[in-house]
Amino acid sequence: MPSIIGHTIASVGFGKLFSQERQDLRFWLLAAYCSLIPDGDVILFYFDVPYGHMFGHRGFSHSILFAVILGFSVTLLFFRDIPKYSPQWWRYAAFFSLVTASHGLLDALTYGGYGVGFFVPFSSQRYFFPWRPIEVAPIGGLTRFFGPEGWRVIRSELIWIGIPTAAAITAASLTRRLRRNKKKSSMEIHT
Ligand SMILES: [Zn+2]
Repeated sequence: MPSIIGHTIASVGFGKLFSQERQDLRFWLLAAYCSLIPDGDVILFYFDVPYGHMFGHRGFSHSILFAVILGFSVTLLFFRDIPKYSPQWWRYAAFFSLVTASHGLLDALTYGGYGVGFFVPFSSQRYFFPWRPIEVAPIGGLTRFFGPEGWRVIRSELIWIGIPTAAAITAASLTRRLRRNKKKSSMEIHT
């Protein structure tokens, strides 16, 4: 897995691309939560669930089905102010599903451990992308994470997640500004 940092950066990026309007703390915390929670499955190691099992690490909690279930649950539970099944409600549900799925997608870009069970429980096959530039974060406590190994992970995440995220946010905000200016100038011509 990429570290907490890598997954959180990705959730912020998706959030910024998703909404033009200002979002509240609830939105950002839930986005970060969805991007991180799949790794809660490491707890199953303590219950002797093998890594390669459907419900082992990178199994069900990293699947597309789990992402959809979590995305819809978060929207149902935490966004009751949005009219249920309205276009906006569906957008939120899709967004939180996508943020959750981003976790597995990033894991599949690392070169450590087993692949990701995207199609669990329909298939137990584990997948990696053919190109895997991201260093895998050490599972084994904070001392390892803050050592040289941890720094290597953070550096690779800043390069392979941080830079593309910053570029996507900049491109999206430039496009929005250009569109707004275009609209403004066409309104000026017509008035
Ligand atoms: Zn993971």
